[in-house]
Amino acid sequence: METPAEPRAHSADPNLDYVYATLDGLQRSSPAQAEFYQAAEDVLASLGPELESDTHYAKHAIIERLVEPERQVFFRVAWMDDKGQVHVNKGYRVQFNSALGPYKGGLRFHPNVTASVIKFLGFEQIFKNALTGLPIGGGKGGANFNPKGRSDAEIMRFCQAFMAELHRHIGATVDVPAGDIGVGAREIGYLFGYYRRLTGRYEGALTGKGLAWGGSLGRVEATGYGCVYFAENMLNARHESLEGNTCLVSGAGNVAIHTIEKLYQLGAIPVTCSDSTGTIHDHRGVDLDLLRTIKERDRLPLSRYLETHPEAEYTPLSDYPTDGHAVWRYPARAAFPCATQNELTSGDAEALLANGVTCISEGANMPSTRAAVEVFLDAGIAYGPAKAANAGGVATSQLEMQQNAGLTQWPIDKVDARLREIMTDIFNRCSATAAEFGEPNNLSMGANIAGFRRVANAMIEQGLY
Ligand code: GLU
Repeated sequence: METPAEPRAHSADPNLDYVYATLDGLQRSSPAQAEFYQAAEDVLASLGPELESDTHYAKHAIIERLVEPERQVFFRVAWMDDKGQVHVNKGYRVQFNSALGPYKGGLRFHPNVTASVIKFLGFEQIFKNALTGLPIGGGKGGANFNPKGRSDAEIMRFCQAFMAELHRHIGATVDVPAGDIGVGAREIGYLFGYYRRLTGRYEGALTGKGLAWGGSLGRVEATGYGCVYFAENMLNARHESLEGNTCLVSGAGNVAIHTIEKLYQLGAIPVTCSDSTGTIHDHRGVDLDLLRTIKERDRLPLSRYLETHPEAEYTPLSDYPTDGHAVWRYPARAAFPCATQNELTSGDAEALLANGVTCISEGANMPSTRAAVEVFLDAGIAYGPAKAANAGGVATSQLEMQQNAGLTQWPIDKVDARLREIMTDIFNRCSATAAEFGEPNNLSMGANIAGFRRVANAMIEQGLY
């Protein structure tokens, strides 16, 4: 894996020295959190010009305060499997920053979850949520629990054991978790049911709820649809569009499935998808109904796709290129990384450029390594960083919170129109901010600075805490 944090020489820019001194301090005080340093460096390294133009951030120690979560809850989750065996997992909720609103962000259940992974996700969430323009702070949680192969009853018992601790830390105006990898409608149902039972309150303390019990129409689709809307915005600004273009998508979960669905609706041709066991390339376009049956209904490995479409190409994980991922090695116009962090290396980025890709819109959180991002930025292609491109999910969660607060449910047209509007606003905010610093195409810098400004100013205006 490309390592995020290497020793650095001091720069000529005193503002970047301040940033890097903060990052070095972070590595000493919170050792062994590679993903978190990577996310922190991505944001902080963009801030040089902003810190130069505005010195009051240093006086208020904004950078130092931003990298330190307001509160972290680490807890034991003990639960019983179907055979009566007890298991123990680590549970987390990191309440990173509440300057803009209640902590908001998903829960991830995956065996590779660590404090570092949850902190990177929580840190990203602060800026993503700020970019939506909505009143939500940043947080994230989860557990190193592997839901694969577990029965419904086991999933329910795990969710209940998790909520037995989490419920005392969340609430509709305090902290509002949602789904992420390994946490979908089924898990949110079990979590919400147990929250209600423990607290006796029927309130929007979670989002991504079922439609009959407080959920919002369009929430399931929102991250994937939003990611495609973001790509459309980037391409329209370049007088291009997705229509008729071949697209690469990684992943086979909720984000990937709805990215593929929206791409078809806009006349594009998504030809790939992947899971943790392998990659499918179907040059006529991915069979979306089949993908849903395999992954959503039956929860099976992607190789099953070949039983219906033997002519598609399947690459097992063992045959992936040594410097990256098979899914990024096909000719296409646009690419949508929708699986997980660091799934796209600099080798993949070079291959994408060589194969004609001119647009990347990130549906997953931090899917590209820092070296890969640099390849995209140097090439000047349309690059939509995750905290901007995948913000449609959390934005629609906030619309769910609005509906819950008003004891109402909006029609799908209203939710989708708001989502489209929000994604366009995010794009405009990122490109206008990047343009202020003379780099209109650098949406990564634009997203980081625009998100930072909103949070930093709210922190300063609200006084020291
Ligand atoms: N897990 C999603 C994200 O990464 C959604 C969070 C939410 O809806 O609160 O943004």
